[in-house]
Amino acid sequence: MLVETIKKKIRDIYDFPQKGIIFRDLTTAFKDKDCLHELSESLTDLYKNKGITKVVGIESRGFIMGPIMANNLGAGFVTMRKPGKLPAETWSESYEKEYGTDTIEIHKDALDENDIVVLHDDLLATGGTMIAAYNLVKRFNPQKIYVNFIVELEFLNGRNVFPADVEIDALIKY
Ligand code: IMP
Repeated sequence: MLVETIKKKIRDIYDFPQKGIIFRDLTTAFKDKDCLHELSESLTDLYKNKGITKVVGIESRGFIMGPIMANNLGAGFVTMRKPGKLPAETWSESYEKEYGTDTIEIHKDALDENDIVVLHDDLLATGGTMIAAYNLVKRFNPQKIYVNFIVELEFLNGRNVFPADVEIDALIKY
């Protein structure tokens, strides 16, 4: 199964969560066993031989392929969560959404300066969520941070919010 075939398994939902938005629904790709396998292989291939030590997934859609990638790469998995969910001491970062602000958190002992990190979420839209996640991971001063998505909505130019030297990869583009 090729990446183009995975794209065909993604369902378009019109006017969700509000009028004028086409929501790319990946649940229809995840539920297909061949598609899930191909996602696992294709995402993992991007980071083979890069010495990845941790995959960081963003709640909640980054918790689906993130742990699979981590396991395939022989790395650990770290959760980045919505406020108040993580039980130990956290660092947090707030960011602007279309309506109001959102916050994400990570345990203070989740990473260290020896780590080589892949930050993973399902989809890049404006980049607001991932740049906040990137800034949070930066605080640990790891060796390297790769940024990964299954889907990138290119027309929103979300990549442009990252420093130019950040390596950003997405399997599927719209
Ligand atoms: P951004 O912060 O504007 O880049 O939005 C990305 C976040 O919103 C990610 O955590 C996505 O899971 C979610 N998101 C936005 N649009 C979609 C979509 O069309 N399908 C699935 N998730 C989406």
